[in-house]
Amino acid sequence: MSLYTPERRGFLLAMAAAALEPAVARAQAAPAPASAGPASPALIEDLVTANRILSDQGIVDAFGHVSARHDKNPERFLLSRNLSPGVVTAADIMEYDLDGNPVDARGRLSYLERFIHGSIYRARKDVGSVVHSHSAGVIPFGVSETPLQPIYHMAGFIGGPAPVFEITDTFGPSTDMLIRDPKMGAALAAVLGQRTVVLMRGHGSVAVGPNVRLAVMHAIYTEANARLQAEAMKLGKVHYLNAAEAAKTQATNDGQVERAWGFWRAKALAANPVR
Ligand code: MN
Repeated sequence: MSLYTPERRGFLLAMAAAALEPAVARAQAAPAPASAGPASPALIEDLVTANRILSDQGIVDAFGHVSARHDKNPERFLLSRNLSPGVVTAADIMEYDLDGNPVDARGRLSYLERFIHGSIYRARKDVGSVVHSHSAGVIPFGVSETPLQPIYHMAGFIGGPAPVFEITDTFGPSTDMLIRDPKMGAALAAVLGQRTVVLMRGHGSVAVGPNVRLAVMHAIYTEANARLQAEAMKLGKVHYLNAAEAAKTQATNDGQVERAWGFWRAKALAANPVR
């Protein structure tokens, strides 16, 4: 006789439900994390502009997102509600803790993959901004045996062969490829390590920087490098920047970010002035 009579099964399910109830109640009753207070208006302005630039430059489309670490508390970050970056305004910026819990959701929907951001801010004290995109040129380097490498001086920040996050290494063969919780975010942050760019197999990439403007520049030139590398490889053997060249060109180009930002901002706002 089976132990699992219909009666016993029903009893066990009822016991399981009863055991879960307090946990569910606690989760529902968990208070929202405390706010760090208002972020600097200049930071909000940069974050909104970053959304518009990344959209205008074709790095993000309907999907993808950019965040900034809160300037009043390193345990908080700022990210738009669930919108396409090209239509984000200052009123859409929300505050989160590093586990991706919204401070003041007010019914607003969050990006499914906000955990990318909090997990990287937790792992990397030097990072002030994170860009996640599915930009098309990068995808082939995440799914093939050919690593993305710095092909020219504008992309020295790639450093060397870019790491690739393989989601099945930790989370099995049946995910939807998304970074859906802090544990998945931490696994991605671990593969990023101390680098500036990490590719995500069959999904996209993440670029970081010490501030919003540099993260945006790194995201833009990651995509440019990918397209150029694919073109160069059609011609035969490719000579990449060596480690010293990569480090020196990054230092030089990061120092030029204001020139690029002013141009990208003007272009993006002329094309799409809705504020
Ligand atoms: Mn994604």
